[in-house]
Amino acid sequence: MTTNESNPLLRPATTLPAFDEIRPEHVVPGIRGLVKEVEGMLEALERDVNPGWETLVDPIERMQDRLGFGFGIVDHLMSVKNSPPLRAAYDEVEPEVVKLLTRIGQSQPIYRGLVALRDGSAGRDLDPAQRRVVEKLIQEAELSGVALEGAARERFQQIRLELAELATRFGNQLLDATKAFALDLKASEEVEGLPASFLEMGAQAARAAGSETATPAAGPWRVTLDGPSYLGFMKHANRRDLRETLYRAHLRRASEGDLDNQPLIDAILRLRLEEAKLLGFETYADLSLSRKMAGAVSSAERLLDELLSASHGAAVRDLEELRAFMRDCGAAAEAAEIRQWDVPYWSERLREARYDYSEEQIRKYFPLPRVLEGLFSLAKRLFAVGVTPADGEAPVWHPDVRFFKVRNLDGDEIAAFYLDPYSRPAEKKGGAWMNEVVGRSRIFAPQGKNARLPVAYLICNGSPPVDGHPSLMTFREIETLFHEFGHTLQHMLTRVDLGLASGIRNVEWDAVELPSQFMENWCYHRETLVGLSEHVETKAPLPGELFEKIRASRTFQAGLATLRQLNFGFLDLELHHRFVPGGAETPFDVQRKVAARTTVIPPIPEDRFLCGFSHIFQGGYAAGYYSYKWAEVLSADAFAAFEEAGLERSEAVAETGRRFRETVLALGGSESPMEVFRKFRGREPTTAALLRHSGLAALAD
Ligand SMILES: [Zn+2]
Repeated sequence: MTTNESNPLLRPATTLPAFDEIRPEHVVPGIRGLVKEVEGMLEALERDVNPGWETLVDPIERMQDRLGFGFGIVDHLMSVKNSPPLRAAYDEVEPEVVKLLTRIGQSQPIYRGLVALRDGSAGRDLDPAQRRVVEKLIQEAELSGVALEGAARERFQQIRLELAELATRFGNQLLDATKAFALDLKASEEVEGLPASFLEMGAQAARAAGSETATPAAGPWRVTLDGPSYLGFMKHANRRDLRETLYRAHLRRASEGDLDNQPLIDAILRLRLEEAKLLGFETYADLSLSRKMAGAVSSAERLLDELLSASHGAAVRDLEELRAFMRDCGAAAEAAEIRQWDVPYWSERLREARYDYSEEQIRKYFPLPRVLEGLFSLAKRLFAVGVTPADGEAPVWHPDVRFFKVRNLDGDEIAAFYLDPYSRPAEKKGGAWMNEVVGRSRIFAPQGKNARLPVAYLICNGSPPVDGHPSLMTFREIETLFHEFGHTLQHMLTRVDLGLASGIRNVEWDAVELPSQFMENWCYHRETLVGLSEHVETKAPLPGELFEKIRASRTFQAGLATLRQLNFGFLDLELHHRFVPGGAETPFDVQRKVAARTTVIPPIPEDRFLCGFSHIFQGGYAAGYYSYKWAEVLSADAFAAFEEAGLERSEAVAETGRRFRETVLALGGSESPMEVFRKFRGREPTTAALLRHSGLAALAD
């Protein structure tokens, strides 16, 4: 047992986390200590609310920061250094933290104080950034029901609970239904076309299901509806009838018997509408859009409509091209009546025929150290910042973790970040992400400084070095690194000193992917990509011919891919905006109606896709699926500013880069994202650049 004095989780957020000291046994006493401390702060604040910035907003930031820093460390360790004792400790304290954060967000005395601050005399002295922080705090409190009284308040809380429960059930039933289906294949002609790695996976699944003698060569093989198994089979299995069986099973998931999600969909849509009405909105989509950059359903739909008219013709052409290819391959009968289960399979054959490079071939050109060097030199060219290794200056959670400092070109230190580059399946979550350690903030400034400097976690899952070779990156991994570095830059290069609006904080949900997707564009810029390549053996740069293949594959079937995302985006908005729960139409009628405009092969009659649409019924994308395309439009348009300046003109690129830094990266959540975009671009965003990058522009004209 440790006393609170020696618990490293209780140290102030002006020092870096003591990863060399923190152990699972610190978590429960440490987090409980923090919760208690912050509860004390909250009670003191609520007892005597004084509606001024320093007396009300600063204390809110202090509470959030105190809790966020300590619990953030634990949360981080859960993702990168998981272990049974850590998980047990986390599970024990997590509900207490969530409860306290909810209590702060829904505090009526604080809410009334914020309204008094906004509307009273002190409000007139707020600068625009402070005003925006106050307004956002008020809005979030109102959307969590704080302004409701009596029966309405009770009903609201009940709806919230029911919706949380329904979302969990939706997810569980989908998971169970996914697990309940399996296709057990025994004859080798049933698995023709499938790659060796797939057969290994299939034999392993068969062994796990009791066929102890299953081998990759002789089977049996078990095919399931899990992502990798389902997608792999649809792309590679030669047997058309089996692809059809699997496709139909996939679209019927969780739509019948004990695991039927249909009644849950009805209930979720009904309760969301009721929640929206209690808060004074016409529809749930209105509620969702009120806190987003798009601002209104009409503007989200306008953007989707524009993309639809540009991509529908292209999708028809993609399908025609696929049919022609099938005929060339001697599959004329199938081409004449092409179905959903033909598209992934034949698209994959077409892709192979056109872009015959392998991932292994590409990887040899991209050792991680070289890629990092190239990425940092790009950051220097664009944003005038230097990134230098500072390993050993901060404790880390694993020997592979690196620590870097970021400086202005005059040498002024402005930020730092950790990089955890490799996968460690035993203890680290998959995927890639960026997170904050601490944000820039005036109120935590060390002696003699203006602000506490921001620090970030940048986490990837690349292959670790083997046999003395450095880690070799796939193209996708490079894109991912650039993406997460974009988020990291917005966190680090902020010039905002208000802790609640600096960096990535207070940025609208559909605008946060702007800097990250913007950075991805550089992976398709020849000089940049070739510049960070160096063959691990020959030291040669990436050949131009390989680069051209990578670039061309970016627009492969862009019409079909865009249409698919638009179909989901429209369907989501339609269900949360115009659909009347309990009325004459069912959600499946809505799906068919939307499909008539947004698909090139009509859905099969028994299509129950909605029963598996977890993004909107389980996750946070309700009336928000359009955001994928929204953010892509912003990032493509931002990149186009560099193209217009001339990518080969280094001075013009540097000048545009400085402007991007001083607007998108510097202003964070201190201004509305549309205003920030306008400051960078001189106008509002348009879809032109995205259409051009996707190869859809010519068809739109
Ligand atoms: Zn992202």
